[in-house]
Amino acid sequence: NVKNDGRNGWAIYHVGMSQVLSATPGLLQDLSLALARAQFEVWYQPKYCAQRNDIVGFEALLRWRHPEQGILLPATFLPALEKTGLIMPVGNWMIDEACRQLQIWDQAGHPWTLAINLSPVQFEQPDIFFVVTESLRKYALQPARLIVEVTESSALKNLDRSVQLLNEFSKVGITVSIDDFGTRYSNMLMLNTLPAKELKIDKSFIKNMGHSESSTNVVATIINVARSMNMNVVAEGIETQDQLALLTTLGCSYLQGFLFSHPVPADRIQVLTEQQPAENKTIPVGIINTN
Ligand code: C2E
Ligand code: MG
Ligand code: MG
Ligand code: MG
Repeated sequence: NVKNDGRNGWAIYHVGMSQVLSATPGLLQDLSLALARAQFEVWYQPKYCAQRNDIVGFEALLRWRHPEQGILLPATFLPALEKTGLIMPVGNWMIDEACRQLQIWDQAGHPWTLAINLSPVQFEQPDIFFVVTESLRKYALQPARLIVEVTESSALKNLDRSVQLLNEFSKVGITVSIDDFGTRYSNMLMLNTLPAKELKIDKSFIKNMGHSESSTNVVATIINVARSMNMNVVAEGIETQDQLALLTTLGCSYLQGFLFSHPVPADRIQVLTEQQPAENKTIPVGIINTN
């Protein structure tokens, strides 16, 4: 509830989040004005199809261009957005902006999908289905082009509501994806209950692959589970050629990570695709020089 998130939200925020933003006392006030000042941006990270060596779509990731601190990552401000309820207006803006960008790509002839992340508070947002479908309508986008990423933990916060909402998304043709899979309460029951078409293996497992046998086994198991349930599986956080080779051997269908590209502003995507000729049968690595 928006009203309840007002003053109480700020108070809770100060107690819980003091370490994160303590270096900058003005940051909290700045955050409440950031939307009106158009300081939020959507950056995009490509997702590759392992078989076709081709970009299949992008994940939209929120950035805050802070006037003094430069580009801030969600880890520094997303908890505050959640606790204050500001994630609702910011999230609504973000969904609209991402769909606007997808329309531009669509009109340029790119058949890409776009994945957006929904946080636990957005999940509870009563009009979230309307916000998402309205953006699709506004930009004349096929629902199949949109992927909604949710974590298991946010789905489990209110399982009835989650099943209902995700079924609504799924019914109109939007793809449901389970993000950060394997980290929390992962179980088969969950996968049977939610209408998910895609699993994203959490990057912590990808990072430990090769070093830890159990992580490699977890990755292999998730890939097999996904396959047996007819779901797409995405590995996130791929940083090395060794990880890529192992994932390819294990049969992972979709790939994402700094090895291919960092998330980048929309105006960098054109460069990315220009440097990826259709003839090229190897996945371009390091094609974007970021940060
Ligand atoms: P996520 O959805 O799991 O997104 C993946 C995160 O991993 C992104 O961090 C991405 O930049 C990072 N990443 C991608 N490839 C690599 C890699 O190879 N190595 C490493 N170490 N990291 C990699 P980011 O952008 O900081 O976002 C963090 C989280 O914030 C996201 O995790 C997502 O849960 C949340 N988030 C981001 N944007 C939004 C948004 O617009 N709305 C909502 N509700 N949540 C968002
Ligand atoms: Mg995600
Ligand atoms: Mg993830
Ligand atoms: Mg994550």
